[in-house]
Amino acid sequence: MDDRLFRNAMGRFTTGVTVITTKIDDEVHGMTANAFMSVSLNPKLITVSVDHKAQMHEKLRESERFAVSILSEEQQNISKHFAGQKQAEKGIDFDFIEGVPVIPDALAAIVCKGYSSHPIGDHTLYVGEVIDIGLKEGDPLTFFAGKYGSLAKQII
Ligand code: FAD
Ligand code: NAD
Repeated sequence: MDDRLFRNAMGRFTTGVTVITTKIDDEVHGMTANAFMSVSLNPKLITVSVDHKAQMHEKLRESERFAVSILSEEQQNISKHFAGQKQAEKGIDFDFIEGVPVIPDALAAIVCKGYSSHPIGDHTLYVGEVIDIGLKEGDPLTFFAGKYGSLAKQII
């Protein structure tokens, strides 16, 4: 099957946008990801799917902790920056929770310790056990059909 057909179909599944962050020694690394999922309530587990070609893959293999920041609709430029699509005009600041870097003003910052990893195809699923959470009010950045958006309305 053609890759484009697959991506076009997967792109019909509207997602939020996250940035995965981790720190090795004193070096922070971040990467935009929409392959994020809540996995288990007890224990509290989440997962992200990371391409083997991404630098983040090596970083997560080395690090014991990582965070997933769920971006707000004002943070499209942060998403583009951490996808390597457009460099931020000014430097990127990070907040820290439990010593783990997170994106300031994200709707949620989910801090995890590594729980398990599962190589699958050309990606690895990294499962994290949630050890702390930061929350902010706001509306989410969305990703649909390869384009960013925001919620036009909420159906109750
Ligand atoms: P790089 O490409 O080296 O870094 C990414 C960018 O972050 C660079 O611009 C770098 O300068 C910047 N950066 C990193 N650390 C810092 C720091 N400490 N301070 C300042 N800037 C920093 N890929 C997946 O594997 N899984 C996904 O679920 C996924 N979802 C995506 C969703 C969207 C909406 C988009 C646009 C892309 C997605 N990608 C996903 C692709 C992924 O974001 C890119 O391929 C990314 O460039 C891979 O990052 P990398 O780890 O190889 O690091
Ligand atoms: P796109 O049309 O490539 O993406 C649409 C959807 O296809 C994504 O939401 C994702 O579900 C899926 N997808 C895309 N690339 C994939 C990959 N390599 N592995 C598994 N699923 C993938 O959207 P775009 O704006 O052209 O994307 C920008 C860049 O970000 C592209 O290079 C794309 O490959 C990458 N990306 C990667 C993933 C991922 O690795 N899971 C997810 C989204 C985007």
